[in-house]
Amino acid sequence: MTAQIIDGKAIAKECRKALKGRVKEFSEQYGHAPGLGVILVGEDPASAVYVRNKEKACARAGIASFHHDLPITATQEQVAKIIDEMNADSRVHGILLQLPLPKGLDEQAMLARIHPDKDADGFHPINAGYLAVGKDGYVPCTPKGVMTLIASTGQPIEGAHAVVIGRSNIVGKPQAQLLLQKNATVTICHSRTKNLAEVVGLGDIVVAAVGRPEMVKGEWIKKGAVVIDVGINRRDDGTLCGDVEFETAKERAGWITPVPGGVGPMTIAMLLENTLEGAIRAATR
Ligand code: NAD
Repeated sequence: MTAQIIDGKAIAKECRKALKGRVKEFSEQYGHAPGLGVILVGEDPASAVYVRNKEKACARAGIASFHHDLPITATQEQVAKIIDEMNADSRVHGILLQLPLPKGLDEQAMLARIHPDKDADGFHPINAGYLAVGKDGYVPCTPKGVMTLIASTGQPIEGAHAVVIGRSNIVGKPQAQLLLQKNATVTICHSRTKNLAEVVGLGDIVVAAVGRPEMVKGEWIKKGAVVIDVGINRRDDGTLCGDVEFETAKERAGWITPVPGGVGPMTIAMLLENTLEGAIRAATR
């Protein structure tokens, strides 16, 4: 059996197309575009590329972006001041603080300073709490995109055993919450999990978000499972790979995402969606 490849690039393109229409309608109705405030601290080249891609995607969707660069030497107070300004700026409906922040800056404190109503990344503790209790709030972009990819397979989530590998605040934990909301039986694995291979083998749905190249072996995968690979890793030869051993896993899985071209493109599409949702909330409050 060879798995069907879940084409995240094509699905994200569809999402962005639908979103562009909704952004146009919003802008015509309210006389202004949704706006995303983007804060980049330091000169990390990967972060600079991510930010540029997000801003390009905003422009293509008709979303305004307001960019603020700060030097690597920026103090906590300087970052806080920019966040406060964006919190108060009525043109900004979502704020993206590009992570990781340079050493010495308190990431959690800065994320918590973003107004929960403008928390386009869904990392604010209030939004994490809303997700945990099943109340409407911002949902982190990557796990939200993963849910769309799983839905694209047509496989039921309700009653399925979902195994999430990784328990970070930005992927693993919110992913588990979202799957639980859809009535999956969820197991969360992490660095101290014993018998990982055995546990992964129970998963009708497996979401890998670890950050270790090809650590999930193809032979662990239950036959016919939906396998979503969030990991983005660089091999020694410079090529990209995921957390799942793709070539062997695709021989057992029913559906699988490639890396690149799987989860990555969905993350940006969901950021645009969250920004539009923020703008709608602000306009209808
Ligand atoms: P993280 O480092 O914050 O968390 C990694 C998690 O993996 C931890 O919870 C840890 O307990 C777990 N882990 C580590 N070793 C393990 C092991 N041997 N067995 C089982 N679990 C283990 O990482 P993160 O921010 O959640 O990101 C995970 C991966 O996803 C990274 O490769 C990152 O680049 C990628 N990522 C991709 C996107 C995207 O848009 N595609 C977005 C966010 C993160």
